[in-house]
Amino acid sequence: MRIIAHNAKCQGHARCSAQAPEIFKLDDEGYILPGDIEVAEGEQLRASQGARSCPERALEVDRTSAARFEPAAIQPRAGED
Ligand code: SF4
Repeated sequence: MRIIAHNAKCQGHARCSAQAPEIFKLDDEGYILPGDIEVAEGEQLRASQGARSCPERALEVDRTSAARFEPAAIQPRAGED
């Protein structure tokens, strides 16, 4: 699971960080740091809660990121069956 931070929408409410400070890192002025956030397996519930707490909808939960690479990994290579 991944959280996509839409920095342009962030208004610095810090609600995400209040829910899960180890997941949602803020800059010195209280705005979410740029870049996607990869969420560890055991932190997914708190990450979802933090993302939902954002009143600006600046945090998008992407649950497909881990699965995206699986099909290629399990497909047989050419010549293998
Ligand atoms: S809750 Fe939303 S608006 Fe507030 S700091 Fe977090 S991402 Fe930014």
